Amino acid sequence: MIDTTVFLDKKAVYYTLGCKLNFSETSTIAKMLKEAGVRTVRKGEKADICVVNTCSVTETADKKCRQAIHKLVKEHPGAFVIVTGCYAQLKPGQVADIEGVDLVLGAEQKGHLFDYLGTLEKKEKGVAHASATTDIRTFSPSCSRGDRTRYFLKVQDGCDYFCSYCTIPFARGRSRNGSIDELVEQARKVAADGGKEIVLTGVNIGDFGKTTGETFFDLVKALDRVEGIERYRISSIEPNLLTDEIIEYVARSRAFMPHFHIPLQSGSDEVLKLMRRRYDTSLFAAKIAKIRSVIPDAFIGVDVIVGTRGETPEFFEDAYRFIDSLDVTQLHVFSYSERPGTQALKIDYVVTPEEKHARSQRLLALSDEKTRAFYARHRGQEAVVLLEKPKPGMPMHGFTANYIRVETEAHPDWDNRLVRVQLGDFNEDGTALKASIQDA
Ligand code: SF4
Repeated sequence: MIDTTVFLDKKAVYYTLGCKLNFSETSTIAKMLKEAGVRTVRKGEKADICVVNTCSVTETADKKCRQAIHKLVKEHPGAFVIVTGCYAQLKPGQVADIEGVDLVLGAEQKGHLFDYLGTLEKKEKGVAHASATTDIRTFSPSCSRGDRTRYFLKVQDGCDYFCSYCTIPFARGRSRNGSIDELVEQARKVAADGGKEIVLTGVNIGDFGKTTGETFFDLVKALDRVEGIERYRISSIEPNLLTDEIIEYVARSRAFMPHFHIPLQSGSDEVLKLMRRRYDTSLFAAKIAKIRSVIPDAFIGVDVIVGTRGETPEFFEDAYRFIDSLDVTQLHVFSYSERPGTQALKIDYVVTPEEKHARSQRLLALSDEKTRAFYARHRGQEAVVLLEKPKPGMPMHGFTANYIRVETEAHPDWDNRLVRVQLGDFNEDGTALKASIQDA
């Protein structure tokens, strides 16, 4: 039984690092605390509770988490400090030792916050609760409104893949998911709240269904039928799990947008083997060809990691040539970062930071070229855009179905509205196409 009087009139501050999944989980924590009577701090106020949701994707991410905790402890003296997220799960002891931290909650515990909060009395030393990753079985549902118009619906968590460079399976546990019925219900609530666009998030989304005996394809079809939701985007899906039937369904679906985000990670088959990825370049090329054959104008974003152990200059050149040959729209380029406990550390060949930087610059330039060409070929066309709330005095932005960023003059009260536009030339900084509104 929770003693809710402890929380009455308390104020909390939330700080999230990392991925969309973390943002959506922080908002679930905020919702739980709000229901107990805790409101979010206003500007300039001191918080009674600080919640930090951490990331651990790289060493730099760990460092940023520690800095964020130090800063919050300093800005909100005496506040009860809770740290959760991947860094908390991977190194609970280390996080509990940070000055000012009271409570560390692992992946399994963060959904049961009230079991651990107690009376919010500050501790001499932080207390950590984090189950072994193999014991993490529960799926904590979460759905949040992003800063802008989109909602993020977590459909899956954890990963069973164990790619050689990745710590996520250790931080988030085994693959698990919500049921289709529960997720459809959450989508209905978003629609009732006025939401029009939902981004499906997860760690390895295509693996959806492990715990409920369902499939990602079934989920896609069920969500597509939810009235009021006009747009869905799939945040990222492994190429080997992006089946032809999903691609064909997206091509004819009511609300799944012509927009894919697929992690390639390397365009060299040798490096893919070292990474222990579950596909090769020919499978990846076939997926892109399949998408293009049924949705020629789809936006295709691709993740690439540069400078992984074992990526010799020759392998990188192979990768570059392969990526250059792909008809994709944008590259998300990440520099490899060593993670303790990963199999990749057994590979001898190490890429220097300078070389990583040079490779990353080349791929970013290639990405710019591809994105610009994609945008350029849409000039003069009509499109439907979902407008987002503008900053005061700034133009409005939004995205077309195939994820082209559009800029138009601001109209009060037009955020979250779907409008038909004619796409014009690039805006001043080249980050969007200017558009004139045809009808609203
Ligand atoms: S698929 Fe590989 S890279 Fe992605 S979360 Fe799982 S282990 Fe990590």
